[in-house]
Amino acid sequence: MREKVLIVGAGLSGMSCAFQLRKAGISPLIIEKEAYCGGLAASFNKKGFTFDYSGHLLHLRWSNTTKLIKNLLKGNIIKIKRNSAIYFKGNIIPYPFQANLSFLSDEERNYCVEEFLKALKKNSVSQRNFKEWSISVFGKGISNLFMLPYNEKLWQYPLNEMSLKWMGNFVPVPDPSRIIEGAYSKAKTISGYNGVFYYPLNGGIGALSKSLSKKAGLINYGCELINLKAYKKIAIVNGIGEIPYSYIANTSPLKELIEKTLDAPEKIKKAARKLRSNTVYILNLGLRKKVSSHHWLYFPQKEYPFYRLGFYDNFSPFCAPDSKSSIYAEIAVKQNESIDLSLSLKEVIAALKKIGFIKKDEDIEETQWLKASPAYAFYDLGMENSIRTINDWLNSHGIFSFGRYGAWKYSFMEENIKDGIETGEMISEKILKK
Ligand SMILES: Cc1cc2nc3c(=O)[nH]c(=O)nc-3n(C[C@H](O)[C@H](O)[C@H](O)COP(=O)(O)OP(=O)(O)OC[C@H]3O[C@@H](n4cnc5c(N)ncnc54)[C@H](O)[C@@H]3O)c2cc1C
Repeated sequence: MREKVLIVGAGLSGMSCAFQLRKAGISPLIIEKEAYCGGLAASFNKKGFTFDYSGHLLHLRWSNTTKLIKNLLKGNIIKIKRNSAIYFKGNIIPYPFQANLSFLSDEERNYCVEEFLKALKKNSVSQRNFKEWSISVFGKGISNLFMLPYNEKLWQYPLNEMSLKWMGNFVPVPDPSRIIEGAYSKAKTISGYNGVFYYPLNGGIGALSKSLSKKAGLINYGCELINLKAYKKIAIVNGIGEIPYSYIANTSPLKELIEKTLDAPEKIKKAARKLRSNTVYILNLGLRKKVSSHHWLYFPQKEYPFYRLGFYDNFSPFCAPDSKSSIYAEIAVKQNESIDLSLSLKEVIAALKKIGFIKKDEDIEETQWLKASPAYAFYDLGMENSIRTINDWLNSHGIFSFGRYGAWKYSFMEENIKDGIETGEMISEKILKK
């Protein structure tokens, strides 16, 4: 029997799609390679410390999805005002860097202001690539001290090869007068997309995934899509075997999906090979003591192995036992690179000692490594064309790829839930029309 819809992946995207299909009376077959649901929105409890795949905070923008998420969490949700900063040469500079230049040394502040005024005077904003854009908007000072080193550490590829398509609200561009004001006064302001966010009070972000899984229906765990025959519409799945299907709703990484598609034409395989991303290693640590009042800190300097440190127990006190701390360090490498975990652990510990967060190795009670690969799709200048080429071909064979990695985009959880619902609606319309 042919399955009407095969959903690949039980992350937030796949489960939202299943939820929508079930509402339309269609029961999809869901396969998930791991033994748990939620994908990157899963949580782990280790001796009373709650760990996510690094901080997973809800930035809610749209009324329908906000309502759905709040209903799913049934009161298990708190609203939090962001307290984040940049750790810069031993100083704490409130986020965003560009609006708080007064926290720099006089020399660095003057460099940033002078270069910013030069850029402003030029009045020509480059749209060619991120590096040029940053210099043309913020000037060389802000770009060289923060914007470029931080983004190089995160993205792992040359920033003059990166387009501006990912930015949306992710990079705050304060009003010029606000940059100048922030260079001479210490008034903190909230700017950017994540000034206020939500988080489950109990259970980490995995609480949301677990609740959504109850609406998604049966999930077949430990079942990985191994190969696809797109012309014959047959999926080969570990633990199940051959599955004939009518439609596929895919949330596994687009690049991998094409590698697994045995009959994809060379043109499609070539487009997929061009897709680039980074890999992020997440080191979760349970500490004996509380170490910071921040939600997270950015580390633009190379001497620190992580680009960001975050503090789960400041999202919710239930993320760590009383007076202890649950934290994460995020380390990025290129997609196919790996790190030596024991060496990296030593480097992170050394950095935490240097910052003053811990004094000795015994201050760490619990460790957990997690890996997100791919983690961030790299928006190079040809990415959009490659994705269009791939999707046109997939769609013409009844395969719809969506979600953060299925669509290969820089997206966030609420957006993935919205995409999942919309994909479910689109597929159910096709089925019900027949
Ligand atoms: C470091 C980091 C921090 C983030 N922080 C935030 C944040 O603060 N706020 C926010 O909103 N978003 C954040 N995100 C983004 C968020 O994690 C994603 O947008 C969201 O979880 C993606 O959901 P998804 O279902 O599309 O993908 P995934 O979560 O990747 O789910 C895909 C699922 O498919 C399964 N799968 C993959 N391949 C196969 C296969 N071949 N066969 C069967 N199953 C398969 C996977 O196991 C997984 O369960 C962050 C992401 C990263 C990397």
